[in-house]
Amino acid sequence: MKLLLHTCCAPCAIHAAIEAKNDNFSVTGFYYNPNIHPHSEYDKREKEAEKYFRSEGLNLICAEHAAGTFFNNIAGKTGLPERCLMCWRMRLGETASFASKNRFDAFSTTLLGSIYQDHEAIREICEDLSERKNIKFYYKDFRTGFKDVHRIAREKCIYCQNYCGCVFSMVEREERRKAKQLEHMAHST
Ligand code: SF4
Repeated sequence: MKLLLHTCCAPCAIHAAIEAKNDNFSVTGFYYNPNIHPHSEYDKREKEAEKYFRSEGLNLICAEHAAGTFFNNIAGKTGLPERCLMCWRMRLGETASFASKNRFDAFSTTLLGSIYQDHEAIREICEDLSERKNIKFYYKDFRTGFKDVHRIAREKCIYCQNYCGCVFSMVEREERRKAKQLEHMAHST
């Protein structure tokens, strides 16, 4: 059975690809992430994903960055959780459409392996898309491999990003870093 696996990044693909192969899927990755900012970071994650899929003898389809799609969709939805709901639906909608048009048997996403994302919301979006686009959704809780994934990524020298992807998450990461720095300075004076 042919599975199109939406791939957000190489580390998250590790466990998802293993699980899908164990469940007898022939896995093809689909790198479609218009949310990632800036373009250099998009390229970096894409190259790491390509390197990982190649090392496993798997195909990875790389779509265009299409950053404009993210910014067009985000208008009026910069707050949480609207922003992330839009982001997941945008990426997974394109994945389900591609899978349906190109005769895959099912689709899924490496986002189901993240402990930082809303797992149930992602699952619900995929189930809804499965009905709308007439393509099976392969569900599995890939979070079970989260700890192993980081060990394997370190061993294989795979780049692990330190923010989710969009410009908002990049700014939020920086704000958290500065707040910690200020707290540390306050305690050491
Ligand atoms: S925080 Fe992550 S999931 Fe939410 S909009 Fe940004 S990139 Fe997408």
